[in-house]
Amino acid sequence: MMSEISDNLARVHSKIEAACSRSGRPVDSVKLIAVSKTFSQERVQDASIAGQLLFGENKIQEAESKILASPDSLEWHFIGTLQRNKVRRVLQVFDVIHSIDSLRLASHVNEVARELGICPKVFLQVNIGKEESKGGFQVPFVDDELTMLLQLDQLEILGLMCIPPACSDAEQARLWFVKLRNLRDTLEGAFNVCLPYLSMGMSGDFEVAVEEGSTHVRVGSSIFGNR
Ligand SMILES: *Cc1c(COP(=O)(O)O)cnc(C)c1O
Repeated sequence: MMSEISDNLARVHSKIEAACSRSGRPVDSVKLIAVSKTFSQERVQDASIAGQLLFGENKIQEAESKILASPDSLEWHFIGTLQRNKVRRVLQVFDVIHSIDSLRLASHVNEVARELGICPKVFLQVNIGKEESKGGFQVPFVDDELTMLLQLDQLEILGLMCIPPACSDAEQARLWFVKLRNLRDTLEGAFNVCLPYLSMGMSGDFEVAVEEGSTHVRVGSSIFGNR
């Protein structure tokens, strides 16, 4: 298992490097988040021994024990739907939240962060495919809400995140990644803010995401195996 995870990590890294060189980007402009949901703390440890220090989890109940059993050198990113009643627990153990999906949730996270005396790093999740089944800020409403989001002074807004509509091949995801990047560019211009990071790309499409500007790819099954 150890060597398999190590080989998988090496393979994912070389694909990221190749995608960076195809698109003329420096390789250190992309962070690989190993999505360890459903996998045990032992698999997290295997990956960390192989040099992987960033991990993603989508459920606080499952993540908490893994995080507390891991060394402090690991960085944890929350990528799942965040319920209001879980905000405090998530803020206490995670370093970054990728799934701020409404102004209401953002305001609540801001309040809890103030109580805890922390300034969490967050991504705004955008429902880029306008899907009924998915959460996230709606396009183009997200830019009306940005003024209010920017006033939440405990939050460090890193950029935008998306989970594009399911598709059969990676090329079909490209248009959604381009849309998210264009939205980011538009918002930066309109609000005179810096939104430097884009969290996009999973096992099936992370190379395309990197070609289109992703800075944080969230990769699970290509590292840990099928769930
Ligand atoms: C599970 C998950 C991933 C990783 O998916 P894989 O296809 O296993 O790489 C990425 N992002 C989110 C939000 C997820 O829930």
